[in-house]
Amino acid sequence: MSQPANIKSLSLSEIISWCKLHGHPSYRAGQIYEWIWQKGITAFDEMKNLPLALRQQLEEDFILEQLRLDTHQLSSDGTEKFSFITASNDIVEGVLIPSEDRATACISTQAGCALGCKFCATGQLGFQRNLMAWEIYDQVFYINNISLQRFGHKLSNIVYMGMGEPFLNFDAVKESILRITDMEKGLGMSPQRITVSTVGIPEGVRRFADELPTIQLALSLHIAHQQRREELMPVAKKYTLEDITNALIYYHEKTNGRIIIEYILLGGYNDTERDMQDLARFCKSFPVKINLIPYNKVSGSAFSGANNEKTRTFIRFLKDRNLVVNARKSRGSDIAAACGQLARKNVTNNTNNEEEHQS
Ligand code: SAH
Ligand code: SF4
Repeated sequence: MSQPANIKSLSLSEIISWCKLHGHPSYRAGQIYEWIWQKGITAFDEMKNLPLALRQQLEEDFILEQLRLDTHQLSSDGTEKFSFITASNDIVEGVLIPSEDRATACISTQAGCALGCKFCATGQLGFQRNLMAWEIYDQVFYINNISLQRFGHKLSNIVYMGMGEPFLNFDAVKESILRITDMEKGLGMSPQRITVSTVGIPEGVRRFADELPTIQLALSLHIAHQQRREELMPVAKKYTLEDITNALIYYHEKTNGRIIIEYILLGGYNDTERDMQDLARFCKSFPVKINLIPYNKVSGSAFSGANNEKTRTFIRFLKDRNLVVNARKSRGSDIAAACGQLARKNVTNNTNNEEEHQS
């Protein structure tokens, strides 16, 4: 006999149909939905305002799966990493990054990643599977509760920058975002505070513009030269800078939004005068905000971060061309919770302490 479905895979209209089929009024579906998504209950008998018979029927027809916490680590800078384990025994990592005025959750969209970027620990892992929408949502729900406990307020920002490539799991990413931003039955978070980061999958960028126009888009560019990008990020062979540029122009025309450009400064690799010129040229076709990211050490990778002098030169060059630049600080690297370090490892010996350069 096949296993009952996880109720979290059902839409509200599917739950309404199920209720009708079993002779229950459709408002019960709304109650069930709120228990699952807003209250995050873990068992059907916690649905206290439902008649016992209905709860028993739910129990017979469905299961109520959730991500379980496997390990938790706290960084010396206050960043916390949560490793969740799925029913299929895959590990998925989410991170809570507190700062003075914010609490940001960084969440994963896939277990592993198939794209193998040379600088990224998740890429070295390979791909296990796409996460389901509820598995993405569960990370946010869990980390939001931690934020409430620790700081007395909800998450202020959510970044889809954990493990995996969001646009290779578009439907689930979209469903999770719709639920996170649903004011009535979801978490009611502001779409403007959600950022999705992609390596640049043109069809994904176009769909994103059409279907999720109020969500922030970030492009992991890292180098604005076609051949050299192919060396760094194998996926660049399939999706060229020209294709990405066209998709970003479409995105800007559709949404009027500014694109975040992520650029890891790799010492001696993409931090030369020529790289600055390539980057400035790439950024001409649409409004951008450039985030310079310090390289986080990944074992088995030969890269190192750019030095402070180079970073300052880069910032000056871009600012002189009226580009908005922000040099980010690495967070949580002592517990391998920083960008690109999510790879089911507990600790790395990272001594990469970058100074922050604010624009
Ligand atoms: N797959 C998506 C989202 C997850 S990666 C993407 O690539 O955009 C999130 C961010 O971390 C990306 O900008 C990625 O390039 C960056 N990153 C990966 N490895 C890194 C490393 N070692 N140091 C700093 N940033 C890294
Ligand atoms: Fe995958 Fe993003 Fe890492 Fe590249 S940087 S391997 S796309 S998670």
